[in-house]
Amino acid sequence: MSEKTIFQKIVDREIPAPLVYEDDLVAAFNDITPQAPIHVLIVPKKVIPRVGEAEADDQATLGALLLAAGKIAEKLGVKDRDKGFRLVINHGKDGGETVPHLHVHLLAGRDLAWPPG
Ligand code: AMP
Repeated sequence: MSEKTIFQKIVDREIPAPLVYEDDLVAAFNDITPQAPIHVLIVPKKVIPRVGEAEADDQATLGALLLAAGKIAEKLGVKDRDKGFRLVINHGKDGGETVPHLHVHLLAGRDLAWPPG
């Protein structure tokens, strides 16, 4: 079995990180190097290395990540259209992935530029 990722250790409560949100399928915590005033990482409790490696059986988990994003945005006061947020999933080297455990970045709290870098 491969070594646990840092995110799996957070999910398993081996590394302390206050959870912003948790349900049966996902957990969320603040990014250690925030790129915006709000920068939350939403991760599946099941290890899926990256989004392109998700399988049909993971459909509920993938849906749970996005549903959690909406709940977290509401909780943090950025769900209204006059505020807003951005979700990002990085896959692989060119995508900017650094942790091989699927995660959705929720960024908010400033005017986010488009197109992204
Ligand atoms: P990515 O580049 O999409 O793989 O994103 C990985 C993210 O994980 C980066 O934004 C890091 O700042 C963040 N990160 C790495 N280690 C930790 C940690 N221990 N707690 C919270 N966030 C972390």
